[in-house]
Amino acid sequence: MRSIIDYRSDAVTLATFEMRQAMANAEVGDDFAGEDPTVKQLEAMSAQMFGKEAGLFVISATMANQIAIMTSTQPGDEVLVGEESHIFNMETGGLAALSGVQARPLRSSNGEFSLSDVQRAVRKGGLQSPITRVLCLENTYDLNLGLPLSQEYMSEISMLAHDHDVLVYLDGARIFNAATALKIEPEFLCRGIDVLQFSLCKGLSAPVGAILLGTKDFIAQARRVRQRIGGGVTKAGYMAAAGVVALQTMIDRIEEDHIHAKRLAFKLAEVDESLVNVEKTLTNIVQISLKNAGKDAVLLTAELEKQGIKIKTVDQTTCRLVTHWGITVSDVDKTSEAIKRILGR
Ligand SMILES: *Cc1c(COP(=O)(O)O)cnc(C)c1O
Repeated sequence: MRSIIDYRSDAVTLATFEMRQAMANAEVGDDFAGEDPTVKQLEAMSAQMFGKEAGLFVISATMANQIAIMTSTQPGDEVLVGEESHIFNMETGGLAALSGVQARPLRSSNGEFSLSDVQRAVRKGGLQSPITRVLCLENTYDLNLGLPLSQEYMSEISMLAHDHDVLVYLDGARIFNAATALKIEPEFLCRGIDVLQFSLCKGLSAPVGAILLGTKDFIAQARRVRQRIGGGVTKAGYMAAAGVVALQTMIDRIEEDHIHAKRLAFKLAEVDESLVNVEKTLTNIVQISLKNAGKDAVLLTAELEKQGIKIKTVDQTTCRLVTHWGITVSDVDKTSEAIKRILGR
């Protein structure tokens, strides 16, 4: 019996029994020669699901992000990124180190950049300025909030970027959470996007991997870049086999994670309205604010840990809890009760 309730991330999810079986029985080959049937199957399934021409299996979402930018920029170029985005904050300065590009952070409101901010940020050329090459979106946005960005917004901002010859890249590590929350098909949601990536090992619970999607030409270039940085894996089919099962079995159940997150948010709001923003709990991430609770975030995290409940401290007054297929309704109820006791309510 599992005794720890782990909300630190949906990346803590373990492969399902069916994934392990698929890995054991995977048909594999030399992916460098384009001969791994399972990798090819996963790449084709993914491309079809998003209505893109081609896909590339990559070891991690971080690597997918970095390959995407390396493929679409030259050193000295500029890319527009969200101030709270993963690619800007959580990838050890990879944009500068690997692509030699300058990242220009944009402020967001409810996860959205304003069109006029983007318009103003795009460099029009000229001898002295860098050239704006890529607009980086993220959906769901903000790893501590998980805000789903609407299809209307994504398409409007993409059109603006395209008007200026700027490529639109989407870090869609949690795109299935966004599509589920918005109740639309991922293909429709990502229609205006040139290149995107989604993670297989967050809510989808596969052991490794992300898929990069784009045109045939872009993916052919990206494949070379992946090779350059040592991201090619000859018999990747063992890993891809779990990804295939993830796409077949784990997407429809993401709704459950959202219901659990909402339930947790409601229960915490019953304890104290100021603890959570129920309206902003739209996917699988619950953010707790302790500003008015008289306890700090490190203390709450430590007290919960003593009771076998792991959460993430974001800063002095903020914690993050992520629901996933390892979290049940009774876990949620147990957690809200524990927080109530710790806060002395
Ligand atoms: C988790 C995450 C990543 C990185 O995923 P890894 O597979 O751990 O490298 C990138 N972007 C976003 C938005 C994420 O949530």
